[in-house]
Amino acid sequence: MITAYHRPRTMNEALKLLRTPGAIPLGGGTMLSRPREERIEVVDLQSLALNSVVRKGNDVLLGATSTLQQLIESDAIREAIRTALRLEAPLNLRNSGTVGGTLATCDGRSPFATCLLALDATIQIIPLPPGGTGSSKSRTGRMEKGQMKIGEYLILRPHGLITGLSFPSTKFSFEYVSRTPSDKPLICAALSRWNSGRTRLALGGFGKSPVLAMDGAEPDGIDPAARNACRGATDEWAGAEYRVQTAAILAMRCFNSLQ
Ligand SMILES: Cc1cc2nc3c(=O)[nH]c(=O)nc-3n(C[C@H](O)[C@H](O)[C@H](O)COP(=O)(O)OP(=O)(O)OC[C@H]3O[C@@H](n4cnc5c(N)ncnc54)[C@H](O)[C@@H]3O)c2cc1C
Repeated sequence: MITAYHRPRTMNEALKLLRTPGAIPLGGGTMLSRPREERIEVVDLQSLALNSVVRKGNDVLLGATSTLQQLIESDAIREAIRTALRLEAPLNLRNSGTVGGTLATCDGRSPFATCLLALDATIQIIPLPPGGTGSSKSRTGRMEKGQMKIGEYLILRPHGLITGLSFPSTKFSFEYVSRTPSDKPLICAALSRWNSGRTRLALGGFGKSPVLAMDGAEPDGIDPAARNACRGATDEWAGAEYRVQTAAILAMRCFNSLQ
């Protein structure tokens, strides 16, 4: 149950509110508006001007309250990432759901989180004390200057206020298989390639978080890396054997489409 609603106008005010027990950030509210037993106070982030989507040099910078649909409509976002965003949620939810809320709640089925993992995105996050977001543990990891790499974020899931994220505008490709064209993927592959040859492959569609299958100086070994990352990935949606085979095909499709 939501017992109080706050809409701070400054970051200092927001952080002060979020440091009180039981207070949590409110993004688009698509998850938080669901009925719940727990008593929470919500701190609406919408007046903090965190909704920009810009390209700066070779980087794309996203504010935490930018909506998923805003990303799709921005010229700063590549078509392959837009494809993944369309799979994340239907239009009405994309119009409200935010970048921060999606990251805070994503599991392994999130196509957007899979893309961010392949892109080695950097998350801007302000740590909050235990209790402020309803947890008893504080996990901050190796946070430097309020930044954390997405790979570490997805493992640690630290308690904090996500204020934004950035990723490089490298060559990028995304492929997926799902039951219907707009359903969440049973398996998806995202591949980034830097001019140096560095190649990073992430797989999604199962588990608690997307999986980093490969991060190499050269693209060799994509096929076995994709297969290995899906071993044991059986759930109610698909079997591991199917995912192993399909991941290898999708990863190679990604690679070939970068050529
Ligand atoms: C009917 C319905 C269907 C849905 N279907 C799907 C679906 O198909 N796929 C899917 O992935 N999701 C689905 N969702 C979930 C939801 O749409 C997404 O997860 C959404 O992107 C969440 O973003 P939000 O901004 O609305 O988060 P909110 O509801 O505002 O918040 C969700 C959580 O994230 C935290 N949070 C929000 N912003 C931040 C921040 N900046 N920093 C730290 N923590 C933050 C909140 O405290 C809260 O714990 C569905 C939700 C509903 C209601």
